[in-house]
Amino acid sequence: MSELTAIEIKDLIKSYGPVQALRGVNLTVKKGELVGFLGPNGAGKTTTIRCLLGLIRPQAGTMRVFGLDPVKNSTAVRARIGYLPGELHLDGNQSVKGALQYFADLRRCNTDWKYVNQLTERLELHLDQRIKNLSKGNKQKVGIVQALMSKPDLLLLDEPTSGLDPLMQQEVYKLLHEAKAAGTTIFFSSHIISEVEAIAERLVIIRDGVIIEEAAPEQLVNMKLRRYRIRFRKAVPPVEVINLAGVTLIDQPNENEIILQIEGEVDQLIKTLASYPVSDLQSEHLSLEEVFLAYYQGAKGGKHNVG
Ligand code: ATP
Repeated sequence: MSELTAIEIKDLIKSYGPVQALRGVNLTVKKGELVGFLGPNGAGKTTTIRCLLGLIRPQAGTMRVFGLDPVKNSTAVRARIGYLPGELHLDGNQSVKGALQYFADLRRCNTDWKYVNQLTERLELHLDQRIKNLSKGNKQKVGIVQALMSKPDLLLLDEPTSGLDPLMQQEVYKLLHEAKAAGTTIFFSSHIISEVEAIAERLVIIRDGVIIEEAAPEQLVNMKLRRYRIRFRKAVPPVEVINLAGVTLIDQPNENEIILQIEGEVDQLIKTLASYPVSDLQSEHLSLEEVFLAYYQGAKGGKHNVG
């Protein structure tokens, strides 16, 4: 494993009884990278993150976090990680300050309260408030502060902006950018496509326990999925065209026109179209959101079926 690698996962397999949550996950995150981890519900995001923390044990495969095995060296690994779980369990009777102190004690680290104060001020969180009186979004902020407050080398964040209003989401993005600028590696799961597009340098998409795509957001848009609007000179049944491998009929605005989505090379499509009277062919830009939906929902032929 390279000196420059923060996370390395190879062929990771984790089952919960009959449920295969991870079916051979392979993933590398470089030191200092800010990587978004996306996938539909139940895809295996939380399971991957919890394996990295040594909180659950995989049945097979290897993992390294800064060169350490999180199963064998869980204490040393966790000391370098700030972790925001999807559901943070907090004692309702504690104050925010008490809860943060509790997390600091768990990590056995000295708390830099000046830094904590800066974080809570920026997130408009009051240290003396009781946890039980906090809204869902404010509880999420406690989770974010406890993950950041030790200035860890690696942040593992499960849905960091869940429940936050747009202004607070922006503040969290700023905090993450600042952490990255200070050298922190960040690996976060999310369902919010605009969020991932806005902050992640690289996206990793998991579906059904397997990583199916890795790319920079802009690369993903230009990658495998293309969309074409094809106008024929006369009404042409598009059956032969839409039955091609990788092709999905998105829309048929009128009898002379079809909109297709194609995954992979366009060679067969062009050759097939050559025998029809095509009057116009336009390539359309796919937004990141559309790319994700195609991955999430599955294209024709079951190649992308979820679940
Ligand atoms: P979400 O976006 O909904 O949080 P996820 O991508 O984080 O989903 P996981 O929570 O990792 O997905 O779940 C992966 C699979 O493992 C799912 O089928 C889930 O039902 C199953 N699973 C997760 N935890 C357990 C558990 N403790 N016992 C049994 N099955 C589990």
